Amino acid sequence: MASECLFCRIVRKEIPAAIVAENAHCIAFRDINAQAPVHVLVIPRAHIATVNEVTDYAVVAQMHALAALVVTAEGIGSRGFRMVINTNDDGGQTVFHLHMHVLGGRRMSWPPG
Ligand code: 5GP
Ligand code: ZN
Repeated sequence: MASECLFCRIVRKEIPAAIVAENAHCIAFRDINAQAPVHVLVIPRAHIATVNEVTDYAVVAQMHALAALVVTAEGIGSRGFRMVINTNDDGGQTVFHLHMHVLGGRRMSWPPG
């Protein structure tokens, strides 16, 4: 339920977060448990549980646009980075408000764990 959703509460500023960028439709903030020197979460302001529930793909474009700003601001574009949307159980999703991880500042391994 959106009223109890952790990331909706961050959007409403009921829970503090280190916000690094915002646009009309999305906000970007640092992950509380960073897995890389740069680890930012980009989320839509509107509650969408997973990427499976997206109906208006303009939302995903807005997320990508804000992620691109974060990549530039954090200076990780040319070295490289990773954008990840974990989805449901197999994808390892733990917070059910759509979010894109932007990870960078170290070399990533493949395949992912
Ligand atoms: P998921 O596992 O769903 O793909 O990613 C959820 C992410 O949210 C995790 O990387 C976790 O560290 C992060 N996270 C969980 N609770 C909070 C919080 O209260 N604040 C912030 N900034 N990140 C959080
Ligand atoms: Zn939510």
